[in-house]
Amino acid sequence: MELDTVAAISTPPGEGAIAIIRISGDKAVAIGDRIYRGRESLMKVDSHTIHYGHLVHPSTNETVEEVMVSVLRAPKTFTREDIIEINVHGGVVSADRVLQLVLTEGARLAEPGEFTKRAFLNGRIDLSQAEGVMDMIRAKTDRAMNVAMKQVEGRLARQIKTLRSRLLDAIAHVEVNIDYPEYDAESVTLERLEKQVTDVQTEIDQLLATAHQGKILREGLATAIIGRPNVGKSSLMNALVQDNRAIVTEIPGTTRDVLEEYVNVNGVPLRLIDTAGIRETEDIVEKMGVERSRQALSDAELVVFVLNANESLTPEDEALFDAIKDFNAVVVLNKTDLEKKINETQMHDLVGNRPLVTTSLLKEEGIEDLEAAIAYLFFDEGVESAEINYVSNTRHIALLNQAKKTINEALEAAQAEMPVDMVQIDVTRAWEHLGEIVGETAPDQLIDQLFSQFCLGK
Ligand code: GDP
Ligand code: ZN
Repeated sequence: MELDTVAAISTPPGEGAIAIIRISGDKAVAIGDRIYRGRESLMKVDSHTIHYGHLVHPSTNETVEEVMVSVLRAPKTFTREDIIEINVHGGVVSADRVLQLVLTEGARLAEPGEFTKRAFLNGRIDLSQAEGVMDMIRAKTDRAMNVAMKQVEGRLARQIKTLRSRLLDAIAHVEVNIDYPEYDAESVTLERLEKQVTDVQTEIDQLLATAHQGKILREGLATAIIGRPNVGKSSLMNALVQDNRAIVTEIPGTTRDVLEEYVNVNGVPLRLIDTAGIRETEDIVEKMGVERSRQALSDAELVVFVLNANESLTPEDEALFDAIKDFNAVVVLNKTDLEKKINETQMHDLVGNRPLVTTSLLKEEGIEDLEAAIAYLFFDEGVESAEINYVSNTRHIALLNQAKKTINEALEAAQAEMPVDMVQIDVTRAWEHLGEIVGETAPDQLIDQLFSQFCLGK
């Protein structure tokens, strides 16, 4: 494959102690060498070494920057191509100046995600690993980062490849049967295929079972804090934000340039719905009334419903209990430092078997219990077990579901004693769906679209 030499600033925009300009491709070392002045020519140094020196304009010999230059020769590099990494002093101007110089010397500006795309095209990583790289960039919590890292390591890819080879094996036996009908009775072939395919299906089901949790770790739980005015919603939100590093992410260089606020609750990222709304208007429920808060609830995956222990229950509370009956909810009985005026029997009836946590947000009591209750609601076996391959990517989930569906169709066809080559077609389609996850059967267009979501310089 002939790929040209590309370059980009690989560190995030803005000021930092250093910035890195990365060049990848056949001409990377030669380009670096033309503008570098140091003890040795970069053409002569060992691979995977770093060198102090200066960058100059090759025509005027005028010094541009003081630098450290890493020389990484193919194939043991991120892109499997020759790579030069130029470390310059932080700051937008110096990094840009060096990039311009590199471009003048013959490199092309890399597209967003192009380095990762090259790693994929050159066979260093598969598509699911590349997507893991993107998830790592976007990860909101350590746990989400761990899930993404496992994907980058290729754990999911290995499992998918094993499943594919088992399907291929099943298909191959059918081929033998079609070519040499005397070799194997058709019914035996079908029985064998059914068994093999059913085993694969079971494993796909197990993977899909992790999807919900994987998606939570990756995208965060849309969380609504509701309750009547003055019960302590804002106090609760502040407690959560204070206690847990609030992560305001501006996802740079991606297609969804949005500002979202997350809090990390025992490893579960909560995405606070309408945070801005709650802050600006102070009380979203107060302003909107129960009827409209029902509407605001529609996006919520988790509801935290706050009650005031110092007041009796009102019809409004009952209406809110009714509004959240189909939601994952934790009920918080707040202000327990004050005289208890709430009717506890009535409250327990309304709470039913939902988790109930008592807090005094004023005294900062009960917050940890609340956090544990939230985590337990979604991860009763503890967040992120090391053993499990979480499927967290929407594209992967969709493809696993498609594979599952076509395998079902194959099994139905087999049970209806359809001709074996009909069954084989469905199994082949399942094999293709799984192949799309790792990029072996993915169309170019899809690949381009995926990598275009990456940041520049990645
Ligand atoms: P919101 O209207 O539901 O957002 O409630 P706020 O968080 O704004 O709290 C309303 C008032 O109750 C504020 O004056 C808080 O300081 C107070 N408050 C919140 N939590 C507690 C608590 O646990 N005990 C007591 N005594 N007061 C609280
Ligand atoms: Zn409030």
